[in-house]
Amino acid sequence: MVTKKVKLHAKKVLKDVFGYDEFRPPQEEVICSILDGKDAFVLMPTGGGKSLCYQIPSIIREGTGIVISPLISLMKDQVDALNRCGVAAAYYNSSLKAAEAKEVMEKFENGQLDLLYVAPERLLTKAFLTRLEKVKVALFAVDEAHCVSQWGHDFRPEYVRLGELREDFPDVPMIALTATADVHTRDDIVKRLGMKRAKRYVSSFDRPNIRYLIAEKRQPLTQVLQFLDDWKDSSGIIYCLSRKRVEEMAVNLQRHGIRASAYHAGMPGRSREKVQDDFLRDRVKVIVATIAFGMGVDKPNVRFVIHHDLPKSMESYYQETGRAGRDGMESEAMLLYGSGDVNLVRRLIENVENPEQRRVEVHKLNSMISLAESLTCRRKVLLGYFNEYLADDCGNCDVCLDPPEKYKGEKQARIVAKAIEELNGDYAVGYIVDFLRGSKGKRILEKKHDELKTYASGMDINADEWTSIVRQLVHQGYYNQDISRRAALKPTDKTPALLKLKADVTLAKYQPGLKRKLKRFSVAKDNSLYKKLLELRDELAEEEDVAPHALFSDVTLTELSQLGKVGEDDDPFSRISGMGSHKIAAYGEAFSEIIKTHASKKSNKQSMDDGKPVLLAKGPAATDAQMYTWNLYKAGNNLDAIAAEQGVSTKTILNHFIALVRAAHHVEVRDIIGAERFDDVMVELRDADPYASLSEIKEDLSVALTNEEFRLVLAWREGIGVS
Ligand code: ADP
Ligand code: ZN
Repeated sequence: MVTKKVKLHAKKVLKDVFGYDEFRPPQEEVICSILDGKDAFVLMPTGGGKSLCYQIPSIIREGTGIVISPLISLMKDQVDALNRCGVAAAYYNSSLKAAEAKEVMEKFENGQLDLLYVAPERLLTKAFLTRLEKVKVALFAVDEAHCVSQWGHDFRPEYVRLGELREDFPDVPMIALTATADVHTRDDIVKRLGMKRAKRYVSSFDRPNIRYLIAEKRQPLTQVLQFLDDWKDSSGIIYCLSRKRVEEMAVNLQRHGIRASAYHAGMPGRSREKVQDDFLRDRVKVIVATIAFGMGVDKPNVRFVIHHDLPKSMESYYQETGRAGRDGMESEAMLLYGSGDVNLVRRLIENVENPEQRRVEVHKLNSMISLAESLTCRRKVLLGYFNEYLADDCGNCDVCLDPPEKYKGEKQARIVAKAIEELNGDYAVGYIVDFLRGSKGKRILEKKHDELKTYASGMDINADEWTSIVRQLVHQGYYNQDISRRAALKPTDKTPALLKLKADVTLAKYQPGLKRKLKRFSVAKDNSLYKKLLELRDELAEEEDVAPHALFSDVTLTELSQLGKVGEDDDPFSRISGMGSHKIAAYGEAFSEIIKTHASKKSNKQSMDDGKPVLLAKGPAATDAQMYTWNLYKAGNNLDAIAAEQGVSTKTILNHFIALVRAAHHVEVRDIIGAERFDDVMVELRDADPYASLSEIKEDLSVALTNEEFRLVLAWREGIGVS
């Protein structure tokens, strides 16, 4: 039985060692049951906080907790992070040199370790098992437990033998943890590990801190750049379908001054490792990758995931977006949804030989499409797919934040239905829309469709809007898309009701462009202080040769940046999430130094600035500052005046302009650059070697431009659609 004393002890470790105030469900229950000597099976989404479930019992129970993990690359990070909290942890795998391995084993045998991370193949060697017999084992934790099951998506043969542990060590509690396992896989894991009596803890798969956004794909590069503007200095992943797109996008981002790297399976292993490492250590901010990237990358502060192309299933979408926001902080997942991508995936599916498998793939794709085209809360659709019911709209997806305007669409639906009826053949959305719009396209004229009664019956609505209407009708089940016939629209048994005006058709109003004006960042953050804290973290991490996030989480830094001031006799750090006593002792002084300096500078500045409009400290400073610049610009101030007004350099203001142009604000770039210089540059850009890099082009210009001026011109060109 778990006593109150045990609970208090667990809570004290949570606070003293890890610096957290409260357990998340179901951490406390799991921990107590392990402390009680029982087995546990834990299914929690990524970022749910699985690690503490075995770390705390390992610290409290006598002996060493053995953590079995397949991902060697993650062990170092985890162990580094634990060491920073003052926990005696080590790992034992093939990456250690002989002398290091020996040292670890000595500590282990002397009972000096609270936790030991081992790869399964190491654990199951005879030599290691013999050692285990001699030491006191606190528990066995099997991480990524789905690897033990052939039902799971990542079966690893070396995991199968882990079942032996239960027989050889009947009295040591075992805990299996995973983030992905359907019902089949769960049963299989429990069976194979011999944990029949294990209590199962399954928590919700909702990731409330991830905001789901789905936008129509129009100008993907511009859309991505706009999005990135809101996430300056943050880490993120952009997924693309093909290696070619990955490379193109990475180069494009680099050209716009973004620290981005490409990652795909076609790259040599060494370069892939380097990219991963640079990402973990915050040297690279944005990874542009195929889906090859992600497994085994455990970076808690990934702030956004962009899908440049359509994921192939809801499972992939959930898993890939789930790499954002593991630390629980506000994060965003944006999907750019384009009909061209749907057709591409459809064609790929058509090539699948096995009809049964083809059927499955079609079903998966259709679920993905219905998420993308849904007019209801995205989270509801997503969780619903995994059989989890969400009672209320989430309030944190694009649909909830900015619900599409709806209207009664019987009339429009009937126009579509009559046209399709009259065309009576295999025509896809594009053809039907052209037909409705009275296009004189070759195919239409050849087939003499311009002589039909319903030809040009939809002239009062533009093509984009018709496309949206027809798609919605498909989505609502009035038509099927026949994949074997190039997505031709086929009537269903619901169609006749449309013709007779007997169906209630609710349509969402079409909104052109990247439609959602979204509220971002609910956290008020003093950005300049946050940046200084980030820099300090980077420095410390570099010195100690660990990943920055292994030192302090973004949550900790954010809370620190909100502290405002540190009094002399106050102990504010103990209130900060993630500042355990060990970290306060080791780093508290360095941080309080920075916070104090910042506070004194700020008060000086404020008194100087008296009477002037003060920039809002709320939201990302960049955006507010840009809007401030925008207002000054609209009021007729020139570049120098705008810079002087804000006490910043003209370079900074040019950067604001670049962002403003990208956000589709009208800025007279020609005036800013100077008409003559501008015109010269435009001519030279037009004639530039299309294969030259932008820096080469800039070198060759006869007009001298600063980097910012050059980027401003490029942003302007992109805005008017010159490529
Ligand atoms: P998982 O292994 O389930 O993906 P982690 O164990 O890596 O998740 O935890 C994700 C993040 O949440 C980590 O940064 C961790 O420190 C933090 N965390 C875990 N439990 C708590 C808690 N009770 N309070 C605050 N933060 C927590
Ligand atoms: Zn929602």
